[in-house]
Amino acid sequence: MVAGNWKMNGLSGDAVHLTQAILNAGLEPMRPEVVLFPPFTLLHAVSQEAKSSALRWGGQNLFWEASGAYTGEISGAMLRDMGCRYVLLGHSERRQIFGETDAQVAQKVKAALHSGLIPVVCVGESEAERAQGATESVLRRQVEAVLHLLNLDANQPNMIIAYEPIWAIGTGLSATPEQAQAAHAFIRTLVVAHSEHLAKRLLLLYGGSVKGNNAAALFDQEDIDGGLVGGASLQAGEFVQICRAAE
Ligand code: PGA
Repeated sequence: MVAGNWKMNGLSGDAVHLTQAILNAGLEPMRPEVVLFPPFTLLHAVSQEAKSSALRWGGQNLFWEASGAYTGEISGAMLRDMGCRYVLLGHSERRQIFGETDAQVAQKVKAALHSGLIPVVCVGESEAERAQGATESVLRRQVEAVLHLLNLDANQPNMIIAYEPIWAIGTGLSATPEQAQAAHAFIRTLVVAHSEHLAKRLLLLYGGSVKGNNAAALFDQEDIDGGLVGGASLQAGEFVQICRAAE
């Protein structure tokens, strides 16, 4: 899977242009699955362009309540209503800038599954945490907060985890394929310990300065099943190159 996280970028015209450029690139349908995460305001435009294609789209966040007096928030049902199949949850920007806690991320994952969305749960350590040798303990805390809240064997959820080291996001300094592979293998062992069933079909995406020229080496790693792409997903040519690296 290759997913494009547009973050807070783009107006309607950009969404139409970018979606059309990806559709016209002649990517093999569904190989990889390509998913766009535009801002909420562009979901309609993307869905109109992509509705009869293999391209999928999702929201960048949701709130766990179904509806009610929660000014400024968006529910899972609302995302489903926009044709979303996926939702990004726990992105480090949400955790750092908006103070989302592990417990809140877990609650959002539960709500996403309840709404019939496939959550893409983002985890990853900061530069300081890596320097202190705390990468695995941070990943364990973030992943287990989610796994503990789900009744995995009863529900058999469909879930994706994106490993995004914070020091690699938007910096141009991607993790090396070896660093990313080690973190992914560790995350997979955490999931195996909770549910072998989920572990078997779990997709693990790498995110953090994925570009056209480093995607193939990252995607070649055994436990890297695709990428979550920020900056480069706003440039059609670069994004298509990354998708091709996953074909
Ligand atoms: P980047 O962002 O590709 O610009 O590093 C990745 C992300 O934040 O999902």
